[in-house]
Amino acid sequence: MRLTKFYIPALKEAPADAEIASHKLMIRAGFIRKLAAGVYSLLPAGVKVIRKIEAVIREEMNRAGALEVYLPSVQPASLWEESGRWEVYGKELLRITDRHNREFCYGPTHEEVITDLVRRDVRSYRDLPLNLYQIQTKFRDEIRPRFGVMRAREFSMKDAYSFDADEEGAKENYEAMRKAYTAIFSRLGLKFRAVEADTGQIGGSASHEFMVLAETGEDRIAHCDKCGYAANVEKVELSDIAVSGDENVQDLQSVDTPNAKTIEEVSEFLDMDSSRFIKTLIYKADGNIIAVLIRGDYEVNETKLLRAIDSGEVALASEEEVESVGTMVGFAGPVGLENVRIIADSSVKSIVNGVTGANRVDTHFFNVNPGKDFTPGLYADIREAVPGDPCPRCDDGKLSLARGIEVGHIFQLGVKYSEAMKANFLNREGKERPMIMGCYGIGVGRTGAASIEQNHDDNGIIWPPSIAPFDVVVLPLSLKDEEVVRVAESIYEELKNGGFDPALDDRNLRPGVKFNESDLVGYPLQVVVGRKGLADGVVEVKIRKTGERMTVAPEGAFHKIKETLEKLSSID
Ligand code: ATP
Ligand code: MG
Repeated sequence: MRLTKFYIPALKEAPADAEIASHKLMIRAGFIRKLAAGVYSLLPAGVKVIRKIEAVIREEMNRAGALEVYLPSVQPASLWEESGRWEVYGKELLRITDRHNREFCYGPTHEEVITDLVRRDVRSYRDLPLNLYQIQTKFRDEIRPRFGVMRAREFSMKDAYSFDADEEGAKENYEAMRKAYTAIFSRLGLKFRAVEADTGQIGGSASHEFMVLAETGEDRIAHCDKCGYAANVEKVELSDIAVSGDENVQDLQSVDTPNAKTIEEVSEFLDMDSSRFIKTLIYKADGNIIAVLIRGDYEVNETKLLRAIDSGEVALASEEEVESVGTMVGFAGPVGLENVRIIADSSVKSIVNGVTGANRVDTHFFNVNPGKDFTPGLYADIREAVPGDPCPRCDDGKLSLARGIEVGHIFQLGVKYSEAMKANFLNREGKERPMIMGCYGIGVGRTGAASIEQNHDDNGIIWPPSIAPFDVVVLPLSLKDEEVVRVAESIYEELKNGGFDPALDDRNLRPGVKFNESDLVGYPLQVVVGRKGLADGVVEVKIRKTGERMTVAPEGAFHKIKETLEKLSSID
């Protein structure tokens, strides 16, 4: 592609709302433009990257035996009512009404549509297993769209759905997808980890997320370096904390703590370690006020809390709501808290002679003992992991924490949708059974953005060859010099004919501008053709990733580029 004929508008500055490298660079390098919050247009270079990612995804999905379909993005509400999700999906679901006042939604995911499709045509175990996928646009009215295409409202997803006659088959499909995902993200040159995950709103029994490791990731993962166990912090299983010390249980005492509200203030005031505190947080869960207890030096993970109490939504209660149950912010505690459901993290169980708020201004209780002074309705693992937590899967392994970008997610759905929507088949014995399902997603744009998060420097993007918009850019430094133009054109043609996808920067720009833009766009290789070099009988090949420069005679350029690209691809 000649850049004079291409459309790749570079910008000096990133927009003010761009917080992370991938968002800034995709805009500055001319890959995407914003239309509205969380809604982006792809420019030609952006399309090229996305098509390359899609090609890898398609190849591996097809190889795994999945079949491509294309489902509508607008979906009738009636299907969502059948599955029960019309009510529970909440505000992320963009609901629309047609001219006949019929309700639809713009699909955030396609379990309902695919289940409806399959239940109409699949009758017998002989038609199974089946794995259908598509690459298509989703809409989710995200509460906080940000980071460009990373967390957009409209975005492209590869979603696949498997249907099986038995558990064994369903597990095989799941494993095949796990393998395919591993192949996809490896081929895309990403450093990633598959981690155990929460099943959230999609529902189902088991799931893994594919996390690209990056500091800017919105997800946090815990992993054991000894046994390889890895899980999202929303899912990680934390063991009960061992009882500390052998103190005798003492009698409850009240103590004045003027102006000390926070755990730090009270712990300083009483000169006691925060691990002796029973922190009491008042939450609103599905409209009900609940008290959530955790050891003072730990934090609650709200996703774990949601799962523990089987609730759809939790949020910290307002000051008014806190007071409505007879306590107050800063002095809440479980002792004497009537008519409020109490959920305690397992870390509270072993606290002996602890400290809590007394539900009175400037007052705390001393010598608070669970089981004696209060009894939670439920003990559960609802805390945030901290580095050094013991691994739940092996002896004396310790957990480390890292940040990740979720690029893919695979679920075993079981019969959640097939039962609700009566997607049945006749088994070998002629009995009607619900199909066993799995679903498997990959965020296409997010994967591109994640690649940039892992592969960039101060000057711009460093694409791995597998998804770069072009394999190489040829840079004639002076368009006035006939020899420079002739050599650049000839290398460009040779590359094109040799099966590569080269760009030729034939724009009449200063060399400095061409170099800067080439670095910004992130072509894996730059071929510099200048007057000075040609006088010495050479052109220069620069590797974007390492900055390494090699000189080669113009006739040897094609071979050098081919060899270097192969080397770069095999490292990635
Ligand atoms: P997240 O926790 O990031 O909101 P999710 O659990 O809602 O993701 P899934 O429903 O599993 O995501 O969707 C499958 C894949 O689609 C995700 O792994 C991610 O790569 C991608 N994806 C989800 N939401 C978005 C979004 N708002 N913008 C871009 N990609 C997304
Ligand atoms: Mg989401």
